[in-house]
Amino acid sequence: MYDVAILGSGPAGLTAGIYSARANLSTVVITGERFGGQIATTNDVANYPGFEEITGPELTMRMRLQAEKFGAELQIDTVTEIDVEGPLFTLTTLSGEITARAVIVATGATPRQLGVPGEQEYWGRGVSFCATCDGAFFRDLPLAVIGGGDSALQEALFLTRFASKVVVVHRRDELRAGPYLRERAEEDPKIEFLWNKVVESVEGNDTGVTHLNLRDVKSGEISELQVEGMFVFIGHFPNTALFEGKLDVTDEGYLVADRRMHTSVDGIFVAGEAQDHYFRQAITSAGEGCMAAMEAGKFVAHREGLESASAPAEAAASG
Ligand code: NAP
Repeated sequence: MYDVAILGSGPAGLTAGIYSARANLSTVVITGERFGGQIATTNDVANYPGFEEITGPELTMRMRLQAEKFGAELQIDTVTEIDVEGPLFTLTTLSGEITARAVIVATGATPRQLGVPGEQEYWGRGVSFCATCDGAFFRDLPLAVIGGGDSALQEALFLTRFASKVVVVHRRDELRAGPYLRERAEEDPKIEFLWNKVVESVEGNDTGVTHLNLRDVKSGEISELQVEGMFVFIGHFPNTALFEGKLDVTDEGYLVADRRMHTSVDGIFVAGEAQDHYFRQAITSAGEGCMAAMEAGKFVAHREGLESASAPAEAAASG
């Protein structure tokens, strides 16, 4: 039994772990399937305060060591069910059960897929959602990046380190990405843009992807784009299926939280992209992890007060 159980090991979960353990609360961080979450798949982090430049995996590792230094336990495991009835919360994991006085949900978000023919078939054989993980496999080969947001351009810029060229395929004729990344991408000689195009299908053979069939959204014309890899960066969906029918969620599935990271159930808090579809930065997630842990600490202290107040009465009743 723990004071605080944290679901997720991205910046939100690990920061919550640091603050919770440092406040002397017995704390477990349940990592989820991918230790470190999305930031651990990012190669260059240049906007995390205090680090002019650091890789996502290194930033994650530093946060983990800091949390463990204060006494947080890291459990490499996945939560499959949660009982939110209280007063104690029970989490069923792949390896057993955990009980906690308070829970912090930091389960993050997952990259969206296009849902077109060939995407699943060639996943891992030319189709990727992680430039850091797979970029190096495409040395001197032509690649497509799908999307027009900050992620698409950031990852397209990263992929120019390996690829012979990177074609950014966007469904409109205007990028969603901010000016800093837009200007850098427009100036990069290895990056080309294809406007008003969507992927109809991913085509390939035994060795992997050979080309994409694209449809012009204005003319309907179909064209082929000869590339050996397709990297998709078209946004995310929150990892909140576990809480369906248990905690309040928005129409898009994000957990509803107040400004102090309280969810609709007393004692369950949330931090990071499980509730934030707007800022989605490592630093905002970390900040929310801190807030959630501080609130969880107050909740646990309050609960302990109630428990010790009722203990003598219970003892008297039973004695
Ligand atoms: P995003 O801003 O939601 O952009 C998603 C992009 O994918 C948009 O261009 C969208 O097109 C396109 N798209 C969505 N569904 C599509 C589909 N089915 N087919 C084709 N294209 C599709 O997501 P993001 O780029 O992952 O960024 C998320 C947040 O993180 C943003 O707030 C962003 O600023 C932030 N971020 C910041 C940085 C940085 O500052 N260094 C880096 C990465 C992310 P439309 O434009 O037509 O909607």
